[in-house]
Amino acid sequence: MTTYRQAWRNRGPAAWLLSATLIGSYCVLYWTSWLDPIAQGLGLRNRWFLYGLLYTVGVGGGGLLYLRRHGSSRYNRLRIMTNFGIQAIFGFTLPFVMPLLGQPEFYFSYLWPLKYDILYPHTLAGLPTYLAVYAILGATVVAPVLALSFGKRWYCSWICGCGALANTFGDPWRHLTSSSTRAWRFERLAVHTVLLVAFAATGVIAADQLLSSKSAAFSSFAYEVKQGYGFVVGALLAGVVGTGLYPLLGPRVWCRNFCPMAALLGIIQKAGRFRIRVKRDMCISCGNCTTYCEMGIDVRSYAQSNQSFTRASCVGCGMCAHVCPRGVLRLENHAPRARDKARQGLITADF
Ligand code: SF4
Ligand code: SF4
Repeated sequence: MTTYRQAWRNRGPAAWLLSATLIGSYCVLYWTSWLDPIAQGLGLRNRWFLYGLLYTVGVGGGGLLYLRRHGSSRYNRLRIMTNFGIQAIFGFTLPFVMPLLGQPEFYFSYLWPLKYDILYPHTLAGLPTYLAVYAILGATVVAPVLALSFGKRWYCSWICGCGALANTFGDPWRHLTSSSTRAWRFERLAVHTVLLVAFAATGVIAADQLLSSKSAAFSSFAYEVKQGYGFVVGALLAGVVGTGLYPLLGPRVWCRNFCPMAALLGIIQKAGRFRIRVKRDMCISCGNCTTYCEMGIDVRSYAQSNQSFTRASCVGCGMCAHVCPRGVLRLENHAPRARDKARQGLITADF
C-alpha cells in the first residue's frame, strides 16, 4: 500500500481524528491539572513529567518505525539514535533526577530563544553558576558557532526535542508539508515575526527585572508580555498547533513557521558552510526529494537546474539525499572553491 493510499497518512478521517485528539490532549495538559493525579500515581512529580515520559516513548517508538523505513542510511541511523538518547537523558531523566540531588530542574537540550525564559535575569540569578554560564554561553556562543560550521542541522535535526519528535513520531506525515509558494511566503513572515517578538519580549522582561520594578506601569506591561508570549508561542504555537497538526500539515509546522531558534539558526546558516550539493546533469525529475522534504523546500527545482543551494529553512535531515534514486544530492559543510561556485551556480542569495 502506498503512502497516498493510507488514509491516516493522507488527511483521511483517521488523520483528522488523531489531530483532534492531539490538540485536545495539549489543551488538557496546558490549561487543566487533570493529569497531575495520574502522574503522581505513577510516581512522577507532576503532569509535565508524565508528558515528558509520553514524549520520550513517542520519540522511541516513532524512532523504531523510522529506522524500519529509512534505517539503510547511516546518517539517519546515527541521527535518530542520538535524538532518542538526548531526549531520554536530557529531556526526561536528568530534569527528573536533578531536584532529588538538590539541583534545579534543568533541560540542557533547550537553549534561548527556544527556551525563552532561560535568559531572564531572575531565572539566571536562581541558577547555580555552572548552569547560568551554560545557558548564556550555549545561546550566545556555542549555538551560533556550530550553526556557522555545520548549519542548523546540529541542533534542529540532532539535539532539539521538537525536531526529535517531528523526525520520529511525525515521520509518517512528512510528505504533507506544503512546498507551495504561498506556504513559503507565510513561513518567511511568520517565523521571522516570532523571532523579532522573542528578542523584544526578552528585552522588555529583562529590562523590567534589572530595573527592579521602578515603574508599576512598565512592570505590568512586562508581566503581560511574559504571559502573552508564554500563552501564544510557548503553548498555542509550539504545542497545540505545532504538534496537534502533524497528521494534517506535516511534522514541522512549529519548526518551519514559528520556532525562533530555527529562524535565528537559519539566518546564521545562510552565512555558514552548510549546503546541499547537487551533482550536475544527474536528476531524472522524479520529485522524491521535494515530496519527502519535511520543510517544504522544492529540492527538485534546484536539482533540475544543477544548482547547489543553502536554504535558511533546511534542517539538514538528509531525507532528500536518502530518497533520491540517483544519488544526486549530498549534504556538506565545506565552503566551495570559487571555481566550483561559478561552475555549480551556487545559490546563496535566496531564502
Ligand atoms: S532540503 Fe533535504 S536536508 Fe533540507 S530539510 Fe529538506 S529533505 Fe531535509
Ligand atoms: S530525488 Fe533525485 S532524481 Fe528525483 S527529482 Fe530529486 S534530485 Fe532529481
